[in-house]
Amino acid sequence: KAKAEGKATYRMFEPALAERMRARSQLDLDMRRALETDEFEVHYQPLVDSQTGVVTSAEALVRWRHPERGLIAPADFIPLAEETGLITQLGAWVLQTACRQASAWSTTIRIAVNLSPVQFRDDRLPEMVAGILETTGLAPSRLELEITEGVMLDDEARTLATLTKLKAIGVDLAMDDFGTGYSSLSYLRRFPFSKIKIDRSFIRLLPDDPESAAIVRAIITMGACLGMTTTVEGVETAEQYAFVAAEQCGQVQGYHVSRPLDHADFLSFLDATKMAA
Ligand code: C2E
Ligand code: MG
Ligand code: MG
Ligand code: MG
Repeated sequence: KAKAEGKATYRMFEPALAERMRARSQLDLDMRRALETDEFEVHYQPLVDSQTGVVTSAEALVRWRHPERGLIAPADFIPLAEETGLITQLGAWVLQTACRQASAWSTTIRIAVNLSPVQFRDDRLPEMVAGILETTGLAPSRLELEITEGVMLDDEARTLATLTKLKAIGVDLAMDDFGTGYSSLSYLRRFPFSKIKIDRSFIRLLPDDPESAAIVRAIITMGACLGMTTTVEGVETAEQYAFVAAEQCGQVQGYHVSRPLDHADFLSFLDATKMAA
């Protein structure tokens, strides 16, 4: 009986599954076309020094300006790009664009670019990064690569070798979304990260939630003891900003400072902050 039901269930879901697969391959085709026709954009979100409020860097965040669907967030296309491997080309495009644009800014703030764990499985990643720095003329010390804990699930020796090569180029490595994934503490000791970005899920309930407050405090202290700076992501209110600044985190990133901005708006933002200074 179970078998019969299983079959019936299978048949019932078949059209939906087929539809999902069709939608996925359509999205895949669309993304490949979009790379050719330049529909992707890099937006920038400023990070400020928690003590001075001065802009220290910007995080590059990819967006897809779809001709019919409008602006699409990375959560809606990065996962599929990771599955199909297209993220390797898309990631290289983001890095190239961010480095090119940042090298033309009239300030030497740093630029942070996200790398997918999938990009780490390509042995040519360090060469790719070095090549882009060379062609765009961006000083390696101005580039920071953000990596999530997911990368630690892969072959550890290989990951360490890749991170070491990247570090040797002169770029900085940041552990993104810290505290949400598997791993953490022992990796911080063994891998050459110089920065921790505390995931915004720990910030959401600040400053009132005592557990969140304790966790954020502990991560900042631990980072400082390990010689790492800490960025707090997802700071949306003045109260949250005041809390993390009092805890002496390094940088603050979040809507309270600014939402991610398209390139033109980001340049205006930089101009406005320069005038205020
Ligand atoms: P992420 O690297 O942790 O980036 C921070 C995300 O938090 C961004 O979402 C940003 O818009 C959002 N955010 C910043 N401040 C606040 C805030 O105060 N409140 C809230 N609610 N959200 C805030 P976004 O741009 O949608 O990107 C989502 C994720 O997609 C990124 O998380 C990153 O993992 C991935 N991503 C974005 N661009 C790229 C890329 O070029 N390559 C790769 N591999 N991944 C990317
Ligand atoms: Mg990031
Ligand atoms: Mg993050
Ligand atoms: Mg995140």
